[in-house]
Amino acid sequence: MRIYLDHNATTPVRPEVADAMDSVQREVFGNPSSVHAEGARARVEVDRARERVASLLGVDSGDVLFTSGATEANNTALSGVLAAQAGPRRRIVSTSVEHPSVEAPLARLEREGYDVVRLPVDSDGRIAPADFAEAIDADTALVSVIWANNETGVVEPVAEIAEIARRHGALFHTDATQAVGKIPVRIDALPVDLMSLSAHKLNGPKGVGCLVVRNRLIFEPVLRGGPQEGRRRGGTENVAGIAGLGVACALAQDELAERGRWYAALRDRLWEGIRAKIAAVRRNGSDLDVLPNTLNVEFEGTAGELVLQALDLEGVAVSSGAACASGSIEPSHVLVAMGRSAAAARASLRFSVGFGVDESQIDFVLARLPDLVERARRAGAA
Ligand code: PMP
Repeated sequence: MRIYLDHNATTPVRPEVADAMDSVQREVFGNPSSVHAEGARARVEVDRARERVASLLGVDSGDVLFTSGATEANNTALSGVLAAQAGPRRRIVSTSVEHPSVEAPLARLEREGYDVVRLPVDSDGRIAPADFAEAIDADTALVSVIWANNETGVVEPVAEIAEIARRHGALFHTDATQAVGKIPVRIDALPVDLMSLSAHKLNGPKGVGCLVVRNRLIFEPVLRGGPQEGRRRGGTENVAGIAGLGVACALAQDELAERGRWYAALRDRLWEGIRAKIAAVRRNGSDLDVLPNTLNVEFEGTAGELVLQALDLEGVAVSSGAACASGSIEPSHVLVAMGRSAAAARASLRFSVGFGVDESQIDFVLARLPDLVERARRAGAA
């Protein structure tokens, strides 16, 4: 039996989601743009999902723009919105710990002449609102801050920073991909203009997500084509995927408090066990402002990849740094931004729990891990 502790990379699809998608795939084949009954049925599915997503997030259903995932949502927020909204403003304020799907569009905007400010994090991975108060000015078009970090789980003070952005008339975007479904993410009372998320991080399918666009903000579509999604994104909708995202959001809404308690209990059991059984370990990131499901640990003197592979052979899936970065020997930019050395970053592993994980699985990992770490340390010293 496999033990999957890599829920920040992707999550298993919940049976309720798979069932809903299956029935849409089989029975609802119409094009939501068609005027006949088949089209109308598909449109009903898309509209219902839009309501469910909106209800979880505390936004109007008209604010929900379905995309192919968070990468497209982030690209749309940064490139498409800025193209239409920046006016004479030339500054963008963000952080040094964003996901590549934010960082790469930022780098492109920088090449186009924007003044991109990437604010640092402290050794716990937290950004300081005071730094934003200093950096955001009347020339700032957009502020973009990750809500919860994919590698460390550290939760950033987005509410405070959104207020600062609003005071200066700058747009505020947050990549909430890792936060949604794990902690409350409701923006009814927050001046958040744009928010990205992805279905596959909350037990929905891959290849679908959304960008929340508040206040009827005008932007340049990234995908130009037909009039779908209120003329904001061309292309026939991924109806089954969208329906799956809707069910995943409805489940998250029902279960959020319970999930938070259960994930945190598993995560804490793992960390307490690691600390008790293995010497020279260090937790990366705040243990207060952190997602309930995420634990990032440095096993000093090891090559994280070696421990990861050894765990995999034992049937346990974890991650070293971001999934997108594994395979490359580059140390995690997030851990480096927190002041860790390249060696410490490479010695770090991310454990992320979620649906289907139980205490006996955590205990199995705790029974095997000390020996695997010991062997990796001997291999490193040899
Ligand atoms: N942002 C964050 C914080 C993520 O963790 C991910 C997924 N690794 C993405 C964006 C990209 O999401 P998607 O896979 O839907 O493109």
